[in-house]
Amino acid sequence: MDRPIYLDYAATTPVDPRVAKVMMRYLMKEDCFGNPSSVTHVYGQEAKKVVDLAREQVAALIQAQASEIIFTSCATESINTAIKGIAKFYHRRGKHIITLKTEHPAVIKTCEALERDGYEISYLTPLFGGLMDFDLLKETLRDDTVLVSVMHVNNEVGVIQDIERIGELVKSRGAFFHVDAVQSVGKLAIDVNKMHADLMSFSGHKLYAPKGVGVLYVRQHPKIHLEPLIHGAKQENNLRAGTLAVHQIVAIGEAFVLANEYLPKADAHYQLLRQVLLDNLKDLPGWLLNGDVQHCHPSIVNISFDKFTNQQLVQRLSGLAISTGSACTTGSLEPSPVLRAIGVPIHLAKNAIRISFGRETTVEEVEQAAGLIEASL
Ligand code: PLP
Repeated sequence: MDRPIYLDYAATTPVDPRVAKVMMRYLMKEDCFGNPSSVTHVYGQEAKKVVDLAREQVAALIQAQASEIIFTSCATESINTAIKGIAKFYHRRGKHIITLKTEHPAVIKTCEALERDGYEISYLTPLFGGLMDFDLLKETLRDDTVLVSVMHVNNEVGVIQDIERIGELVKSRGAFFHVDAVQSVGKLAIDVNKMHADLMSFSGHKLYAPKGVGVLYVRQHPKIHLEPLIHGAKQENNLRAGTLAVHQIVAIGEAFVLANEYLPKADAHYQLLRQVLLDNLKDLPGWLLNGDVQHCHPSIVNISFDKFTNQQLVQRLSGLAISTGSACTTGSLEPSPVLRAIGVPIHLAKNAIRISFGRETTVEEVEQAAGLIEASL
């Protein structure tokens, strides 16, 4: 039986064959398998060299310095390190944190954990459609606000926040600024300086690198301090102890290089795919696009249907690999809190599916997908 058409790239991407090829060179005895901390011999020195190169490759895409790049196991770890790290290190400065209700569970649940430790969190409701409410942010920022955490591109609906403007406001009030850029890297240009970001999180498996590797950008000028999550030896500027996973790190370095090459083509490619999907669906009755086309990244299309719940839809659309929300909430019968927060009525929030495109998605695949949707209604 044919496998379904994969349209769930926001959940995870396959490893790019060029990335897999690089990765394979850092595993076996005849290759470069050393511990990058063992610099007394050539095995360790070779490994350190390739890790340093990967740090430069990651930094180059986001206009950072190599010394500002910390390798982690996933974006969830990067986010936890950023939020808890700031909260704990700067607790004398303030214990108030601001985020949006539409953030990924990696942010929301980390904030909830801090609440149990006596921190105060403001979970802002965005404007209808999902954009940041600047007046509300202005009112909510206080002298004891230590951190603001905002996602660049939303993983369920694709809403793109104006990170530059948010960052400017946050910095003018003296708080630290963390950006979850998991869904935007490789699709939109990222400049940590223009965006006023102090911290930024990335995930390998959303960018054609393997699962099990992430990145945390930590600004060095002025220097940001973090209380580490994991204690041990001195790896990663004392911020993330543990022997470096060299094969994973070279893989994410290569993935950032490939993302840089693809970036000039990204916008036209995703715009075309979304246009093809929406054009093919436009005459069908009973569906509604969630989020505003103008403010959503075209790689993520979130649609609600009148007649079917998302569980029914996923069954009817078995020829498509799509999701009912974020991969982390799949299986939940509750309506998505993200859709509710952007103003989608409860019955439509229960009937929503997310279609997400990748670098390899073709117009033909999208046309076939639209045909399957039509047949299922
Ligand atoms: N942030 C966003 C926006 C995501 O989409 C995801 C993954 O779904 C994460 C964070 C967590 O990433 P990871 O799977 O690397 O922990």
